[in-house]
Amino acid sequence: MGRVYNFSAGPAVLPEEVLKQAAAEMLDYDGCGMSVMEMSHRSKPFARIIETAEADLRELMGVPENYHVLFLQGGATQQFAAIPMNLMQNKKADYILSGSWSKKAFKEAKLYGEARCVASSEDGNFSYVPDVDGLEFTPDADYVYICQNETIYGTRYPKLPNTGNIPLVSDVSSMFLSEPVNVADYGLIYGGVQKNVGPAGVVIVIVRDDLVREDVLPFTPTIMRYKTQADAKSLSNTPPAYGIYICGLVFKWLKEMGGLEAMKARNVEKAGILYDFLDQSKLFTATARKEDRSLMNVPFITGDTDLDAKFVAEAKGAGIESIKGHRSVGGMRASIYNAMPKAGVEALVQFMDKFERENA
Ligand code: PMP
Repeated sequence: MGRVYNFSAGPAVLPEEVLKQAAAEMLDYDGCGMSVMEMSHRSKPFARIIETAEADLRELMGVPENYHVLFLQGGATQQFAAIPMNLMQNKKADYILSGSWSKKAFKEAKLYGEARCVASSEDGNFSYVPDVDGLEFTPDADYVYICQNETIYGTRYPKLPNTGNIPLVSDVSSMFLSEPVNVADYGLIYGGVQKNVGPAGVVIVIVRDDLVREDVLPFTPTIMRYKTQADAKSLSNTPPAYGIYICGLVFKWLKEMGGLEAMKARNVEKAGILYDFLDQSKLFTATARKEDRSLMNVPFITGDTDLDAKFVAEAKGAGIESIKGHRSVGGMRASIYNAMPKAGVEALVQFMDKFERENA
């Protein structure tokens, strides 16, 4: 069987060129006579891999000098705890809730201090991003937290909240490297890589150096202190070495594709094909508010759960994989990350059109 069009929300599609290169280097990486999976994380070849990965990521995102780039384990979920433990000097933080992931992070933060919800779109089943204009933040809050692209509900912040001197913390897991960002707008920006960047097992944290502190909450495990990992250049313990290597190959691929401006243009075009179809369809409806639509995750429904199930089953027969929506929203969700080719989106739209005509 050949490759399918994989619309999974994560782990998700990776660039074919990267998979081919990893396959070619599997038995013998760069004349080392072994796979990257088998080599010491203290070896010279691995030092080159992680240093090159960091340099390429810095170049792609334009990461300023005063930010650390950390390659960590524990997934984005571990950061829900690591962020308050490291940043809550005043034990106060403000959270904007725009979906399940920010809600989970908020719940976790409450274990460590006074986390306050300053805005929420839960009243609309998270189909939109709360208005961030005129929000009043806690003056001595340690940070303001957002999830910039909510994977399940398919929303993305159209603009960032203005938090003044309070550091903005953003979970960009499902939009990592899909478009340019201004890192200096954030105190900390992080994401699990298994959607847009690499295999599960790596989380990348980009954090401003004044937030890498000694005076973390006293019970913070040594391994979860940003300072531990920043001082050790992510090598305090054995890092997710093979995953970092694949991320590095994806960074090279992104550079060859023309960088993040070029990726954004591609992603706008791909998402446009799908949203344009949805907007004229009499059968399918996109569930997220237009102004807040994600470029990466596109949930849609027919309004009839039996028909949704039929769609998912028949799509599979047409080589369209993992299109079922998250259990909390139902319907369908097409995740169209960087590595999803335009042809994949076109194939999906063609299939939707056919399905609509057959089920009118
Ligand atoms: N944040 C977002 C936006 C996510 O989409 C996910 C995973 N789907 C997570 C956090 C949790 O990531 P992990 O499973 O790596 O802990």
